[in-house]
Amino acid sequence: MCPTPDRAPNKLSSFSRINVVPAPCAASKHSLDTIKSAAYRFLMKTIDYIYRFDPHNPSVKPPPEDVEVARRNLENGNKLFSEWMQSCRTGTFSQGEPRYVVQCNGLEVGMVRTHGELPRQAAFAVVVGCSDARVPMEMLFGQGFNDLFVIRVAGNVLADECWGSIDYALTALADSIKVVVVLGHSGCGAVTAAVDAYLKPLKYSSAKTSFMLRSILHRLFVPVHQAANGLLAEWGPDAPLMPGYRDALIESAVCLNAALAAYSLHLEVERGWRTEVQVLYGVYNLFTHQVSMPPLGNRKEEPKVNLAYAPTHPRELDVLAIEMATRLRPAEMGLPPVSPPSP
Ligand SMILES: [Zn+2]
Repeated sequence: MCPTPDRAPNKLSSFSRINVVPAPCAASKHSLDTIKSAAYRFLMKTIDYIYRFDPHNPSVKPPPEDVEVARRNLENGNKLFSEWMQSCRTGTFSQGEPRYVVQCNGLEVGMVRTHGELPRQAAFAVVVGCSDARVPMEMLFGQGFNDLFVIRVAGNVLADECWGSIDYALTALADSIKVVVVLGHSGCGAVTAAVDAYLKPLKYSSAKTSFMLRSILHRLFVPVHQAANGLLAEWGPDAPLMPGYRDALIESAVCLNAALAAYSLHLEVERGWRTEVQVLYGVYNLFTHQVSMPPLGNRKEEPKVNLAYAPTHPRELDVLAIEMATRLRPAEMGLPPVSPPSP
């Protein structure tokens, strides 16, 4: 038998980075390998993004009490995540205590007080986002178990099933939900497909486009048209011939798609669900890993994280289309090239 390893005092043992190092055991090659692996992990510098539960302080992160606190929780969580991603990009290692820590309370980690009792669902935000694998909702908002009620569908379009899920969340989780968030993202494959169908309608009309794909693209044509109108108004009649037109159309349509969905949700929430719930929206940038609205259009602007309140009138969508067209003018563009769209 190998000796039982001593556990160093560690009040944060549940999710700590290096927990227990087994003592040496000459009879076991497996143990030696384990020791080598643990020593390597101990010596190497790492850039950790940690979910932490402190059993001595299980309610360190109380649920948000109102819309503003909920919004700040999401924005601060995204700042944490984007800073961690920036550290990974630049190789800025954590020294000693990890800097990127997502606190979890007892409820979040599924803790229950009575044997056999199920954890009570208590999300504070409904998030409608894209299925894109590069856009992991809980992680990019710095949230954990039981924080978000997430609906993901390609292009974050509002199909009937999405409405049903949102309705359920606002009804069944009425005690905890404070905000509904629509999140688009740069380089969205679904929006890109809708833009290409708009630019090359004959190709789209062929039988190669499946019925299933069309059901998503049809819901994206309105924001694509709005974005195209904005570019035409701001760039002039030669807009489609100007460099960067397609990329600008995609990024503007991403923004308008999120805004239009937020506007539609705002109407429904106001119409009869819960007036104390607010609808927010934003766009996740695949380069900066920040959520903002309006998204960055050029390098002259300071990076920022913010979620906007949903438009309350269709005119605001037209204004947004013009603003995006201004930000995305070829002369103003300073962002790196748009990444290839996902399938
Ligand atoms: Zn997408």
